[in-house]
Amino acid sequence: MVHAHSARDRARLVSEAERLCAEAGETLTPLRRRVLELLIAKDGPAKAYDLLAELDGESGPAKPPTIYRALDFLMKLGLAHKIESLNAFVACDVGACARATIFLICDKCGRTDEFDAGHALVDLGEAARKDGFEIKHTMIEAKGLCAACKQAA
Ligand SMILES: [Zn+2]
Ligand SMILES: [Zn+2]
Repeated sequence: MVHAHSARDRARLVSEAERLCAEAGETLTPLRRRVLELLIAKDGPAKAYDLLAELDGESGPAKPPTIYRALDFLMKLGLAHKIESLNAFVACDVGACARATIFLICDKCGRTDEFDAGHALVDLGEAARKDGFEIKHTMIEAKGLCAACKQAA
């Protein structure tokens, strides 16, 4: 499950991101890269304004639209996800899981674990297909208690 990323993990996630961008014919601009690095360093859901505060001062005042554009870009490539119920963003922990993702969100400590739901959601895709619906993207936000909080309860 999710643990704090080591410096090596972080470097790997960023270089993976660069590879993905190149494949998609896109550029990981310094700002996009910086936003991704901040998200990875957070190791959990981050609000756009938290990111803004951290970017602020690094290269002059950062503006909200800039952040949102960078986040949109990262989400488009599957490098980041928005957790709607928290109105927050996380770096993808699986890498290019653009099609199906499940987030397990702890109500108590806010810890958020992501796993590639590709297999878990096969049945859902098949059921929908029988109804004539082609699922392109599934994102499930499951709320509950993480293992640590459950143990402490
Ligand atoms: Zn992901
Ligand atoms: Zn917890």
